[in-house]
Amino acid sequence: MLDFGSLLLATALSGACLSGTLVAIWLTARQSRFVFTMAVGILLLVAHVIAFWLYGRYAAPWLGQGMLALLMAGFFVVFTSADQYIERGWSRPTALPIAIVIGITVVVTAAGYDGLGFVIAYLAVTGILVMIAAAFWTGKDVDRRVLVPVSLLTGSSAVSFALCAFVIIQQKQWVLGGVPSNWAEDVNTVVVVACMTALGALTISFHHLRTHRRLTEETLTDPLTGLLNRRALAMFHGDTHFGSTMALAMFDLDHFKRTNDIFGHAVGDRVLQRFADVVRKHAHDGVEGFRLGGEEFAVVLSGVTAIDAYRILRAIGVSFGAEIVATKLGPLRSTVSVGVCFGDDDAATLEHMLLAADTALYAAKRAGRNRVATANTPDSEWSREPELLSA
Ligand code: GH3
Ligand code: MG
Ligand code: MG
Repeated sequence: MLDFGSLLLATALSGACLSGTLVAIWLTARQSRFVFTMAVGILLLVAHVIAFWLYGRYAAPWLGQGMLALLMAGFFVVFTSADQYIERGWSRPTALPIAIVIGITVVVTAAGYDGLGFVIAYLAVTGILVMIAAAFWTGKDVDRRVLVPVSLLTGSSAVSFALCAFVIIQQKQWVLGGVPSNWAEDVNTVVVVACMTALGALTISFHHLRTHRRLTEETLTDPLTGLLNRRALAMFHGDTHFGSTMALAMFDLDHFKRTNDIFGHAVGDRVLQRFADVVRKHAHDGVEGFRLGGEEFAVVLSGVTAIDAYRILRAIGVSFGAEIVATKLGPLRSTVSVGVCFGDDDAATLEHMLLAADTALYAAKRAGRNRVATANTPDSEWSREPELLSA
């Protein structure tokens, strides 16, 4: 049968190894600061476990104070790591209250009431664990799948620390002169071993989740304009059925080769970025912009009538036409041509929509550029649109 001391020391050893692994991961991915913070948090908890073991043998007051301070500081750093990951901004304002609680615990323990010190520390840790859970549950971009393991981990640990405090309070053991020894402590030791292992594993999977997400974002984003790219269009709308409340428009900048030839490629790039800004300004729920490549863009409109879609597209064209890009050769204005295909009751595919929008775009070019041409005109209200051009 394994004795309690060996179990604590084994926990400390595995925690130290875990901390080292996290530092190694962080060294290869410095942008994941939360990994390093977690390594520090786990190391502080390892120091606490060793101090806890020592306090069970030599109950020196300074050891008790340090041991309890390490417990709270360790969990606070773990909370800081979680906060860095989900960017909730809670760790900074809570640092001072935690420091005050640590100070109170140290004073109380120094006065000989180490049992009371344990109660305060255990309740503080319970509070920190609840804050970690709350931060995850209220975080904006938290992958829902991580909520189950995080809740299990923080929930069971919080209950276990609260129980430890409860037993000491119930037995009124305000002065212990050593480590508490009761059933709640035994349960807590097992929970802390599981907690440390799970913290490390979770941190590594958070790191992978974040890296995967960043890479996915990069593969779906056009680096020059920041708009989604053609791959994203295929991914988000490859299976979309373009019904009667949807439309797809293709934009092609007019005489863009001339812009490059006269003003240079760098100015051309700025014009592309300016166009993307205009698209973003008009993008809201149901209006998504994509750069297909070169100076060609697509906009997918959802939940709009055909006339509203047409007006949004025309507004993008007019706004872009009003943009002035300053160049060495003087102010530069550009225009854009648009071809739009409205969805219909037969729910067309992306491929069909792109083809039809492209045909309409050529019609807009042939008709003199700087205009919107439609592949299909769904209803009679169109007669009120003066600039309407059909392919
Ligand atoms: P039109 O009005 O008929 O569309 O004429 P255009 O000159 O715009 O047509 P064309 O397709 O011949 O020209 C597209 C140009 O876009 C050619 C290429 O040099 C330029 N281009 C493509 N990608 C980029 C880019 O990323 N940056 C810059 N600056 N130019 C680009
Ligand atoms: Mg082109
Ligand atoms: Mg062009």
